[in-house]
Amino acid sequence: MATVTVTKNENIKNKTKEFQKAVIDKDLDVVLKNVKKIDNTCSFTKCKTRTSDFAITCKYCSGRFCTTHGLPEIHGCGDAVRKDEKQKFLHPGIKLSQEKHSQASTKLTMKLKQMELERKAKPSKSKKK
Ligand SMILES: [Zn+2]
Ligand SMILES: [Zn+2]
Repeated sequence: MATVTVTKNENIKNKTKEFQKAVIDKDLDVVLKNVKKIDNTCSFTKCKTRTSDFAITCKYCSGRFCTTHGLPEIHGCGDAVRKDEKQKFLHPGIKLSQEKHSQASTKLTMKLKQMELERKAKPSKSKKK
């Protein structure tokens, strides 16, 4: 019975340690991001181009890059892009519904324009008669 309680305590201890580690890692990330914000240079490690005037923000790593390193494939987010594209391929539902929606709205505007034209055309026709 006693050994059971010991192992349970050990598990709890390990979990708290893991949690603390995760918190520290997160804080470090935040600090690093803030540092990058302050120095206003390209997030690419070897690049010192200033990005205060113009920067490309990567949607995968949320880093700010100069025009040379703006592409995800160039600064090392190629894998993230491939994953994202794979997910879109596996779950195309969102994209499809968006396309359908835009198609429907264009159809609606086309119809409205047509109706407007018909309305304008009708009185001129009646005048001719
Ligand atoms: Zn990136
Ligand atoms: Zn750069």
